[in-house]
Amino acid sequence: MARLRPAAIVHYHEVSLKRGNRPLFLRHLARNLERATSDVGPVRLRQLSGRILLELDRNETPELVRDRIARVCGVASVALAYRVASTLEAMKDVLAQLLEGRRFASFRISARRAFKTYPLTSVELNRELGAFVVERTGARVDLRHAELEIHVEVLPAETFVYVNRVAGPGGLPVGASGTVVALLSGGIDSPVAAWRLIKRGCRVVFVHFHSVPYLPDISQHKARALVERLTEWQYASQLFIVPFGEIQREIVLSVPGPARVVVYRRMMIRIAEVLALQVGAAALVTGESLGQVASQTLENIARIDEAASMPVFRPLIGTDKLEITAEAQRLGTFEISIEPDADCCTLFTPKHPATRMSEEAIRAVEAALDLPRLVTLGTSAATFASFIFPPVAPRGDDPDDHEALLA
Ligand code: ATP
Ligand code: MG
Repeated sequence: MARLRPAAIVHYHEVSLKRGNRPLFLRHLARNLERATSDVGPVRLRQLSGRILLELDRNETPELVRDRIARVCGVASVALAYRVASTLEAMKDVLAQLLEGRRFASFRISARRAFKTYPLTSVELNRELGAFVVERTGARVDLRHAELEIHVEVLPAETFVYVNRVAGPGGLPVGASGTVVALLSGGIDSPVAAWRLIKRGCRVVFVHFHSVPYLPDISQHKARALVERLTEWQYASQLFIVPFGEIQREIVLSVPGPARVVVYRRMMIRIAEVLALQVGAAALVTGESLGQVASQTLENIARIDEAASMPVFRPLIGTDKLEITAEAQRLGTFEISIEPDADCCTLFTPKHPATRMSEEAIRAVEAALDLPRLVTLGTSAATFASFIFPPVAPRGDDPDDHEALLA
């Protein structure tokens, strides 16, 4: 019997890619696959038609490699496969080994030829290999509800045989869509909002505002823990921490209570935008969801937008709290977010903030503030932390390389 040669086979949604974007997409995807697996043993990447192959001949933890790949954005699915020569004999040999000790009542063969000059059609392959499996195992063929689906992908040079395909997150590889800055509170929503942009191929840089010494410093620890968790999806992260308490104290001196939440939020947006320009980001992201709280009415969202020159993305705007919570649980941010802490926007604010501020009203209350000075106060006091996951050495050979930026 031939020795089994393990590999991971990675599929992406190629159909959704425009022709000109494909090389860029693949370059980012390949680099992210390398980063995600850099600490789990030897892996060699190869681009095949419509898929990426990771050769795992010398890798001792293929399952770990597969689990890491299943979390790389841009991956539609990943499977641990065996590689064989594209002859029926070789395919049967590997099937026999693959099915050894497996119990299943029904199965189907899903054969695909990536090139049409192969002497057998996929129907013929299904039939030949199906008959072989029936003979070996006694299981029956069931095309609709098979207990075990056996995939056979025939490529010109070799064939891949595998049984379990794990779904990836889909989306686009991180780095393919540019950089955005996410306003990250310690709450449930903003980490989920940030992740939505990571999934669409953005590098996300985080900004957290805290009100120490007026409030405890728990929110900063939560923000760091959240960023570390989200870094598992983008491999390297930056977090700005902005002391906001003094700015709030100045706001309180001239802005009436009900208007403060919207003024705070506009100030956060202005400061985040300056930091965004510093890191080359082209948009901001918040976790707002329509109608959830007083600052999230149509009117107040409009006032917050007016403080920004760049687009403000709100990927959760039409999402219910239950859906957001479920997503936070899947991401593993929920546990961190529900740690009790005090929200900086409630500092010096009444129970019932204004829900419908007009543009004139907000301008009137802000007239007494020296906005440029307050923005500079925030940006100049911002401290900067960076995280890398999994721990990889900076390469620095690619100007586009995120680690190089952090080095
Ligand atoms: P979250 O669950 O994300 O805290 P929320 O439902 O509590 O959101 P708000 O308090 O109105 O809603 O905050 C709306 C958005 O404003 C947050 O999702 C976040 O993007 C941003 N934000 C609020 N507070 C902070 C903060 N302290 N630091 C950074 N961003 C913040
Ligand atoms: Mg909050």
